[in-house]
Amino acid sequence: DSPSPKFNKSGVSGKGKNITTKHDAVICGRRNASKIMDFGPEFHSGDGEGIDMKLSNKVYNRLKMHSLSETKRSQRLHEKKEFSTSEHVLDPRTKLLLYKMVNNETLESVGGSISSGKESVIYHAYGGSKEGVLLSHECAIKIYKTTLNEFKNRGAYVDGDHRFSRDEFKKNNPRKVIRIWGEKETANLNRMKKFGIPCPAVQVLNKHVLVMSFIGKDQIPAPKLKNAHLSVEDLEDAYEQVVKIMDTMQNKCALVHGDLSEYNLLWFEDKVWVIDVSQSVELTHPKAMEFLFRDCYNVCKFFKKAGVHNVKEPEQLFNQITGLNIKGKGAEFAAQVQRYDKERSAELLAHQITMKEYAFDYYFEKSQQDRLLEEQEEEGEDLGEVLEERNDPFEYFYEKSLQDKADRGEEAENSSENEEDDDDEVIEEELKNADERTMDRIKLG
Ligand code: ADP
Ligand code: MG
Repeated sequence: DSPSPKFNKSGVSGKGKNITTKHDAVICGRRNASKIMDFGPEFHSGDGEGIDMKLSNKVYNRLKMHSLSETKRSQRLHEKKEFSTSEHVLDPRTKLLLYKMVNNETLESVGGSISSGKESVIYHAYGGSKEGVLLSHECAIKIYKTTLNEFKNRGAYVDGDHRFSRDEFKKNNPRKVIRIWGEKETANLNRMKKFGIPCPAVQVLNKHVLVMSFIGKDQIPAPKLKNAHLSVEDLEDAYEQVVKIMDTMQNKCALVHGDLSEYNLLWFEDKVWVIDVSQSVELTHPKAMEFLFRDCYNVCKFFKKAGVHNVKEPEQLFNQITGLNIKGKGAEFAAQVQRYDKERSAELLAHQITMKEYAFDYYFEKSQQDRLLEEQEEEGEDLGEVLEERNDPFEYFYEKSLQDKADRGEEAENSSENEEDDDDEVIEEELKNADERTMDRIKLG
């Protein structure tokens, strides 16, 4: 906000003793500091409010270089996934799970790796049937895997999502923690489907293996927007679709994607499909709006660069979607978004006791506890009664899906599977004795 003098063509302002040039250290320093505010929102520039911040050219240049290389690094990470082959090896436990699903005809066959990354691998499969219900003809199988490091990173997405509490996160053993990603992705995909967002349809969730409908045809996955090479008309159409999707996610599903970009949007049959929602969070998440602004930033940047006209500024898109009226630009805007998040979560915290009484939490936590304690017995609470006290449709749908699951006996099935949580030796043994014809129907790699 400090006034900056106007310079003439030769870069000089003022006369005589009061002369300043555009190279004046103070003015340069201030200008550098304000330019930092325009770096990408993932760049933590801190809160410069109320400080007369000045940065030397040397410091500014170093920061600029760092910001650029970080952006490139994150893009490389996204791209690397599809090409890394060393990650293709599945552990015996997962192999056995796939084997059992083929053996009991849930899947007709498994074959062909679609993507392989640090957090998950994706395979193509042909669907069979489960309990008499046909699965999608072509399926994508997402297998979650994880490392300790990744727990740390991803904790931020679970922490504060009242459906998946941090305590649960910590208490669980690693193998069970991985399953939370599948549960989250399932819950989020189901909710998105309910509100008509084009996304994969969940077919079966079995521990850390999620079977969903395949977006694509004849084993060829739909391209990501990043690689779709669309015409300008299609790109304009895609942009409109993405804005609509973001609006529905926010205002109907009450979810923030959290990793929305040209890498997690597919183009298939003239439609934009949203994938990869295991990290998506509820609007009540303490950083929900920060994540949303980052999504807006990524989306706008991609479409603008691709040459779409009338792409909104991320700040504008954010305000449009949320109905908020946050002022400013770049990091200044981001700082206000963060402040908004903070104030809102403080308010929510005050209401937490009420939140605890929500049927959803009640049933979700209950199901988690049941699983942990390996209790087989379902208690006789009447879900209908609890639901009547609630008027939130989203929670209702999820509760209902949990209830449906319980009705179909999946809870019980899962907990008996839990108990077994076989030794490695037992698994190896089972794999050794596996039926060859079934094995022939599983082609990984
Ligand atoms: P990650 O967390 O590893 O990014 P994603 O869910 O984004 O996992 O999946 C990785 C890649 O696999 C996607 O970029 C996409 O190309 C492909 N993929 C994932 N799900 C499907 C699906 N249902 N249909 C077709 N391709 C899919
Ligand atoms: Mg992805």
